[in-house]
Amino acid sequence: NQELALKSEKLTVAGQLAAGIAHEIRNPLTSIKGFLQLLKAGTIDIANYYNIMANEVTRIDTISSELLVLGKPISTTYKLENIFTLVSEVKVLLETQAIMKGINIELDIPETVAATIKCNATQMKQVFINILKNAIEAMNENGNIYVKGHIKANKAIIKITDEGPGIPQNIIKKLGEPFFTTKETGTGLGLMICYNIIEHHKGTISVESNPNKGSTFTITLPLKENCDE
Ligand code: ADP
Ligand code: MG
Repeated sequence: NQELALKSEKLTVAGQLAAGIAHEIRNPLTSIKGFLQLLKAGTIDIANYYNIMANEVTRIDTISSELLVLGKPISTTYKLENIFTLVSEVKVLLETQAIMKGINIELDIPETVAATIKCNATQMKQVFINILKNAIEAMNENGNIYVKGHIKANKAIIKITDEGPGIPQNIIKKLGEPFFTTKETGTGLGLMICYNIIEHHKGTISVESNPNKGSTFTITLPLKENCDE
């Protein structure tokens, strides 16, 4: 059982991010460029390469759209939002993907917890989308993902627990680094975006992993009465 508070200073390393973007976008571009040359030389049949090239373009598109989330100005005026409602809406968005794998997303956020935070609803939903998507992707067929809320020490605490394989210690250290992914078609941007958003909300994210049992992502947010304004 390993726990690690995730460092937010990773987020401010703009240079690392820029280099990562250049690298990630360059790979598919190099491949497309090579293909165009072969096509021009007339040495290949487009039918054999069409799908590969389409995938490369999709990859650039996916990376760009994930980065757009980061590029949006982070609003600093937050509204009182109901977390239960927010997570319920996210659950609907991910339901098809979950149902296809036989995964049930269980919400347990009591009303006394749900109405305690101020946030930007779109951004907070993005956090739950990214974490829940990772949970679904990590799990095999069938099982549960739990989203539970409680209040502790003047903070709202939301725990997202999956029944996936857990996360090895050497990988936990890298979570939140831009472009760090262990997935074939992953972008490695999801968690970085989560940390960025939660940091702007003056909250924290930590990860706990039980090998072969699952992982828990814990989000801690200040209660509404403790927010500035
Ligand atoms: P991506 O999903 O595109 O790989 P993320 O930033 O969302 O990028 O996640 C980074 C990595 O963290 C994943 O590739 C995976 O290795 C690991 N990870 C995140 N969430 C989980 C989880 N719930 N269970 C196991 N591994 C996870
Ligand atoms: Mg992800």
